[in-house]
Amino acid sequence: MELAHKLPASAQEPTDAETGAALTVDLEAIEANWRSLSQLLVIVECAAVVKADAYGLGLEPVTKKLAAAGCKTFFVADIAEARRARACAPEAKIYVLKGFNSARATAFVELAARPVINSMMELAEWDAFAASRNWRGGAALQVDTGMNRLGISAEEAAALAVRVQNDNHGISLLMSHLACAETPNHPLNTQQIRLFRELRTLYNGIPSSLANSSGIFLGDPAHGDLARPGAALYGINPTPGRPNPMHRVVELTGLILQIRNVERGGSVGYGATWIAKRASRVAVVALGYAEGLMRAASIDRKRMGTAVIGNKRCPFAGRISMDLVCIDITAIAEGVARRGDAVSFIGREVTVDDYAATAGTIGYEILTGLGAKCRRVYRGV
Ligand SMILES: *Cc1c(COP(=O)(O)O)cnc(C)c1O
Repeated sequence: MELAHKLPASAQEPTDAETGAALTVDLEAIEANWRSLSQLLVIVECAAVVKADAYGLGLEPVTKKLAAAGCKTFFVADIAEARRARACAPEAKIYVLKGFNSARATAFVELAARPVINSMMELAEWDAFAASRNWRGGAALQVDTGMNRLGISAEEAAALAVRVQNDNHGISLLMSHLACAETPNHPLNTQQIRLFRELRTLYNGIPSSLANSSGIFLGDPAHGDLARPGAALYGINPTPGRPNPMHRVVELTGLILQIRNVERGGSVGYGATWIAKRASRVAVVALGYAEGLMRAASIDRKRMGTAVIGNKRCPFAGRISMDLVCIDITAIAEGVARRGDAVSFIGREVTVDDYAATAGTIGYEILTGLGAKCRRVYRGV
């Protein structure tokens, strides 16, 4: 105790008992997911998208683990993330998805990071900068094939291809992004794949990249030379509506602070939205929206979220509060749940995708939200 007082606050790692909530990240499972996607791709290289702090799970530990496993190409959001990734993967190719920015130009050289060029304006700026520095570090050229987000148009790409044959602007990758890959039958997939194939032939000799996680499962025509999975690495199902082929990566737990009895007719929580239909028992757990547990998962009674206690799914009772949630444990035997026990919110029973569905969102938003707010614990470092 004496010693702890003298340590700076940052050196005092909070423990389970101190915060009551933990997001456990299994790095071995992330590696296994990367390996199984690589195997699926056979001769196509498998990169890793580690933007948004590796979907909230920690850019540094994930990048280190995958670089050690043999991953050679990483995609990050911005130059700040490129700096963090470079420190973990000295040899890797690092592409910056949010593109080139003249104000941050020198950082691309210092970090040997490659911008994803998303407009003709960016290309002109990149060209001028690269020429002035005689820099040949490479860049990806993104073409918009139907999503209307980032990228030069197909027409611009076709016109540019002629010039690229003479001076290739240091373009090391031709890429595009699928808008509907998780819906295999969506007509936009066929359209985008066809257009991208036409463009590839114009950029002969330059590697190409189209597939995100779900795109990998669309088969060969969507693969190109390099796949860019993110979500699937982190255990989100890339094939919604079908069994999840990926390993489970995260577990979200909270500790029970107390068990209380609620009389028939008594209400629980803010707004008194939950009324006990019979004499009930409720577990109060130390986890709430401040730690990333989505309050929306406790609003609609029809898709009320659940937590797992003693191998049984128990529904939330009333609204999720800032750092607390109440759970109806009337259905489980007395004594099975005790003060100090860990309750599982996401794990073997309730997947990230299940939980996202109860909150009316997607696994991506759940992971990035939890990762930013909840204490993270790593397995398999
Ligand atoms: C985020 C992103 C990816 C990864 O997508 P997932 O669906 O998470 O696999 C790939 N490419 C681009 C351009 C992205 O922005």
